[in-house]
Amino acid sequence: MNDVAPQQPRPSLNGTASVPHILVVDDEQHMCDICARTLRRSGYAATTTSDPAEAVRLLSGEQRFDLLLTDIKMPGMSGLDLAYAAREHDPSIAIIIMTGFASFENIHQSVQRGIADFLSKPFELEQLQASVEQALAKRALLRENLRLRSLEKLLDVSEQLTTTLEPSELASKLLHSALQQSGCRAGFVLGIQDGASEFIAVWPTDAVFLEAGNAVVQRAVDERQSLVIGGQPLCQDGEHVFNAAFAAALQAHGEVNGVLVLCDEATQMPLPSVQEEIVLLTNYAGAALRNALLHQQLSAAYQRLQDLDRLKSEFIAIASHELRTPLSIVLGYGLMIRDRSAGDEHEYAKRVMEGGQRIKEIVDDMVSLRYLDTGETQVALQPCAADELIAGAVERMQFAIAERQLQLDTELPQQPLIFKSDHEKVTLILSHLLSNAVKFTPRGGQISMRASVQSSVPPVGVYVVTPIQPHTLSATKWVVLEVQDTGIGISEQEQSRIFERFYQVASSLTRDHGGTGLGLAVVRELALVLGGVVWLTSQAQHGSTFTLALPYLPG
Ligand code: ADP
Repeated sequence: MNDVAPQQPRPSLNGTASVPHILVVDDEQHMCDICARTLRRSGYAATTTSDPAEAVRLLSGEQRFDLLLTDIKMPGMSGLDLAYAAREHDPSIAIIIMTGFASFENIHQSVQRGIADFLSKPFELEQLQASVEQALAKRALLRENLRLRSLEKLLDVSEQLTTTLEPSELASKLLHSALQQSGCRAGFVLGIQDGASEFIAVWPTDAVFLEAGNAVVQRAVDERQSLVIGGQPLCQDGEHVFNAAFAAALQAHGEVNGVLVLCDEATQMPLPSVQEEIVLLTNYAGAALRNALLHQQLSAAYQRLQDLDRLKSEFIAIASHELRTPLSIVLGYGLMIRDRSAGDEHEYAKRVMEGGQRIKEIVDDMVSLRYLDTGETQVALQPCAADELIAGAVERMQFAIAERQLQLDTELPQQPLIFKSDHEKVTLILSHLLSNAVKFTPRGGQISMRASVQSSVPPVGVYVVTPIQPHTLSATKWVVLEVQDTGIGISEQEQSRIFERFYQVASSLTRDHGGTGLGLAVVRELALVLGGVVWLTSQAQHGSTFTLALPYLPG
């Protein structure tokens, strides 16, 4: 072998910084020398050999050649077979065949094998230069073409990877496409989470990793780059033991979250260009795997939430059912004792009744929610008078209003406002809203209850609690019932949450008051079955106004 450095390096045609490197093979040493000298003068790097077997070794070695310039007839191996071997290693290498006998058969074969050029001996040195230049230009085009095709393939696979949300499916897609690209016979994808690794895809399915294989994974994780390791048994598939592996780390957000390992014999390791493509693929896969793992965690958390929600509903169903019977016994006998007793005993019985009544309200909320959940809630439309509804709610809270020295105003239209709705349900809604206004308004504060008819609801810019349904837009008139207080108010971020079941604003102020966190959930659901809309305007420390609007069906 004889290396010839260029006299004036010329830029590489494939866009890299190195000069094009040409391998000259001819069994006549002086031909090798002449060609090498000419090429060197033209600015190329050249390596020569008269031995075709040595040429095959050189072509499969570390050094990459841009062009093979070979004689056709050589002892031991023809130039065409050498060209074939060269293409096996590098599908884009440019090839020029030199021959003294440019027979039609030779030309036909070389065209069939995709060989770039044919140079008839004897040739002028200018002819050699022109041929080389032309072949290298074709090679640059071919490389670009191959690059685009592999990019297209990559894009296709990366699209598949990024749309896969199941980690094991994603790993198996990555593995199969990497095996296909590399031609390796076995492969593994390991997922790495919190320092622990596990196999998430293995092909063939019964392939096993040998002890030394673990070191390959560790190196890929530590070095965060691809590597080829060989020389000892790394993995086994049945009777095949593979001694070499190509490994690449999967990364996302600077963290290694997996490793791809491809195993085969040392001679079957992917070419550097294929390695580059696989590394690109692992880059996509790292990000996609992270997304898939996050999605898996989110799904598990969502499932846990759903389980919790189901448990809550079951709890409501069981508790409401199991409490009802004993409670009616307590309330029934409590009433009897209260009515038949006097003095201290009468007072005690009154307290028992008040406590029992409170429990009944909680159980009633639970029962309402249960019926709303199961769709068993019946709406009984009947004429309702706005003033009676308000009076009914106030009556229930009379004692608490007086005790907290709250001032209560009511504003009603001059003409009695009668409309069709479910009397019991509207009273329940107003009672809940008034009870909250009383609870969350400091001593001496003010509460206003208003009723009116309006032609469009809700006003722009308010927080609407109930979903806006088609009838919300189509109803022409609305009965609007408002409960306004000068209490502690509700911050903007809490406004949407307080209508969730069991939700209570976590503040020492609210914790001073009793409650289950079910009242507003009942309000919201009942308003919905009545075809109504609920909205809220509030500001922390500046009081709240809860408004219920019901379609105005004149009574
Ligand atoms: P409860 O009153 O039983 O806690 P609700 O579902 O009726 O349950 O109310 C949920 C939470 O919303 C209350 O705990 C309170 O934090 C907040 N809230 C409701 N009404 C008002 C109000 N008028 N002013 C201030 N906060 C309120």
